[in-house]
Amino acid sequence: MLVGSQKLLFVLVDDDGATPWTHELRKPVEEKIDSSLRWLEKRANGFDKPLRIAHRCLPLSPNVASNAGCRINENDYTAGPHHATWQNSIASSLTTHGSLAERWDELFELADLPLKDDEGSAILLCVRRHTCSVAFRYCNGQNPEFEKERAIIYDMGGVGGQAYLDSLIAHEILHLYGAEDLAPGKVHESLKIIAQKLTDDIMHTPTQKPINEYDISEVTAYLVGWLEKKHL
Ligand SMILES: [Zn+2]
Repeated sequence: MLVGSQKLLFVLVDDDGATPWTHELRKPVEEKIDSSLRWLEKRANGFDKPLRIAHRCLPLSPNVASNAGCRINENDYTAGPHHATWQNSIASSLTTHGSLAERWDELFELADLPLKDDEGSAILLCVRRHTCSVAFRYCNGQNPEFEKERAIIYDMGGVGGQAYLDSLIAHEILHLYGAEDLAPGKVHESLKIIAQKLTDDIMHTPTQKPINEYDISEVTAYLVGWLEKKHL
């Protein structure tokens, strides 16, 4: 559920084969992250749900990006093992010791954003590529390697479908907390008919317009815990 106190880490990653991040390239992305998170808080409040998202971008200044040490396969849309190995190498490069689960906690501490038990958290890794962003939701019972809700945000400087990066980031975050795609070709069979009426929902096609022109439908609100079933 995307409610209450949430802590998000965004890690800027230099990946083999992608042009490196610079301070100049990071700045507009950090602004988009901020507008995306404020929009989500506002929308949750619109459903009378409290939501406060604290976030940090890693690595901290003066460093610009962490190095993945290997190339991400952007054509792989599954959570593992490729993506797990790739993200684990990033967690390991930024932290000093311990199991992978401990390293995730250390990462939040490093960012001066230590986690408390009742707080939700997610990690989003930002890579400079021109391809579709992806989100991998953690489910109870999965391997601890997948312990963190996590997503890969691809950005090549706001070209093409990435022009509205804040809309894309909000879309991926909502995925991490339960929302489903509503676009034709992606929508789950059970939502196919209702999704045709939900073209303004940010879970439909987040590449088309500024974030403030998007909506959160009752379907998405229900899936992320902003609406009870009895109100549907
Ligand atoms: Zn999606």
